[in-house]
Amino acid sequence: MEYVCLGCGARHSIDELLYTCPSCGGVFLLEDLDFDHLADHRSGDDWRTLFDSRASTRCRSLRGIFRFYELMAPVLEEDDIIYLGEGNTPVVDASPALERSVGQRFAYKNDGQNPSASFKDRGMACAFSYLRALVRKHGWDEVLTICASTGDTSAAAALYASYVGSPIKSAVILPHGKVTPQQLSQPLGSGATVLEIPGVFDDCMKVVEHLAENYRVALLNSKNSWRILGQESYAFEVAQWYGWDMAGKCVFVPIGNAGNITAVMSGFLKMHRLGIIDALPRVFGVQSHHADPVYRYYSVEDPRQRHYEPVTVQPSVAQAAMIGNPVSFPRVRHLAERFEALGGPGAFQVVQVTEQAIMDSMIRANRHGHIACTQGGECLAGLLRAKELGLVDKDETAVLDATAHSLKFSGFQDMYFTNGFPPAYGVTPDATLGNAPSLVLHDEDKVALAEKYTVEAAQRIAAKLGLAGK
Ligand SMILES: *Cc1c(COP(=O)(O)O)cnc(C)c1O
Ligand SMILES: [Zn+2]
Repeated sequence: MEYVCLGCGARHSIDELLYTCPSCGGVFLLEDLDFDHLADHRSGDDWRTLFDSRASTRCRSLRGIFRFYELMAPVLEEDDIIYLGEGNTPVVDASPALERSVGQRFAYKNDGQNPSASFKDRGMACAFSYLRALVRKHGWDEVLTICASTGDTSAAAALYASYVGSPIKSAVILPHGKVTPQQLSQPLGSGATVLEIPGVFDDCMKVVEHLAENYRVALLNSKNSWRILGQESYAFEVAQWYGWDMAGKCVFVPIGNAGNITAVMSGFLKMHRLGIIDALPRVFGVQSHHADPVYRYYSVEDPRQRHYEPVTVQPSVAQAAMIGNPVSFPRVRHLAERFEALGGPGAFQVVQVTEQAIMDSMIRANRHGHIACTQGGECLAGLLRAKELGLVDKDETAVLDATAHSLKFSGFQDMYFTNGFPPAYGVTPDATLGNAPSLVLHDEDKVALAEKYTVEAAQRIAAKLGLAGK
């Protein structure tokens, strides 16, 4: 395998951990030099059979994202592969009532059911497996991994680092006050060094880049192309779930630093090239109007008139995607071109949604038995927006990425239920979706009621619920 620079086309050996091109500063994609030969080894049918049979393998290293080993990082040795239960997350069909009210067949892929409760574990499993291979090869006795994070990258990095242990240690850089308490608790619990600085993610990213350029650290942001490889497993799993038939499917992905959408497109393109899937799905990126540089770029119809410009982000409930200058934008541009060339016009699109729509959609999904985070809400808002714009056919099936578990973002749910959003978010709760606990008895009542407490509490609850006696 080699790093290929998307800026100048230079190629570099994977013997070293490189993030950006030493000649032009461009970002890399990893390329398997034997990839074209894979098609000679097996037919599409044989690949499908192989991956389907791996679903029941007892080999731990092939149980997670590396079920698709040959498509991702076939240079890794089995002993280097780390498996913490990532990947193979469920695809859950929209509840019948939700599907009826949305008026579209769709499903959520619950990537919050990964070990650190977000899709970032897919990329970390791959990046840490590669790091282990490097450590073994070079005999390093100390490696410090570092990342900037909107919360979930640091949770995943800290988890994998603490599992691998010596000689790997982990430090994470977070924007102070801009990650949820649950996300902050994760790297702390994993024993990482947690460093906070003022500002937003984009500020942290610049600091981390400076560190990676000038000091001996291993950068774990999605600039690290090993993470992109691991995240491609999402696309492979979606295709496998639908019996390798992606015709008539639309895949919705929230865009922050744009690593995930890169991986999803790259994954589908690889399967298409090997004949594992015959049709590409359509891919929709979704961005909030408070952090939408990729949407702005693609909102210009004529490709020659498009112009990329970072934006200054506004507070967003889709905090994990609140990024004004996505590192992987050049990767998106590169892959989107190939995606459209093969899939036709509309094969890749980006829609913009409001903060209000994101919150309403998250709450609405979860009232129907889903476990969407705010970014998962963003995907449903994106589907609704795409329908409104006439971009989705009524016969298509949408697959929405619930990128993290709802529990990581319960603070935004609380704000919704208590009408507590700071004005900058611009979110007004829909009162019909509200919910609050109701206290049946006070502490002092319990003391005063003594042995009558149980009966009294039961009677009050029965009255509140309007229960009929029997
Ligand atoms: C990181 C993250 C995103 C954004 O993904 P990118 O690869 O940065 O575009 C979306 N949702 C969640 C929950 C995340 O952790
Ligand atoms: Zn270059």
